[in-house]
Amino acid sequence: MTIAVFPGSFDPLTNGHLDLIARASRMFDQLVVAVGQNTSKRGVFTASERVAFIEAEIKNLPNVTVQVETGLTVAFMKSIHATVLVRGLRNSTDFEFEQGIAGMNRTLDAHIDTVCLMAAPKYQFVSSSLLKEVAQFGGDLTQLVPPAVAKGLRERLERE
Ligand code: ADP
Repeated sequence: MTIAVFPGSFDPLTNGHLDLIARASRMFDQLVVAVGQNTSKRGVFTASERVAFIEAEIKNLPNVTVQVETGLTVAFMKSIHATVLVRGLRNSTDFEFEQGIAGMNRTLDAHIDTVCLMAAPKYQFVSSSLLKEVAQFGGDLTQLVPPAVAKGLRERLERE
């Protein structure tokens, strides 16, 4: 049985993340979405708010679970016997970034393989940080995030 982990900050969840979750859930027996805190990004939603957004959208995917994980991803993976680390690639900037992390994780634990899935073309430009900027100025997010996330972003960020 192959257990995969999809780690990220998910601040907040986007339809691009959801597309990756659905695709990875078909590739592996179990998928654990690990909600962490990116040390170089400022958070808009708390970890439990981010988990709640994801939980609401994965009800139709029985082999997917979500949890908060703030430690070293490879240590968490070892503790749950996960062997595949899933990440998404939107562009060459993502590639450079993921290559570095994958190399480091490989050095830390040679039993873990990183599998990168190409972003769906329609979500290639979707990033949590860009969405936050659009939300600040009242832009329409309906095609890019689940309705509950759009509402949460509006409430949290929209300028008076
Ligand atoms: P992190 O701060 O760890 O990069 P993110 O929540 O920004 O966390 O992203 C988590 C993962 O999801 C990353 O591998 C990222 O490349 C991927 N990802 C982000 N947006 C998309 C998208 N629109 N389509 C596919 N993958 C994506």
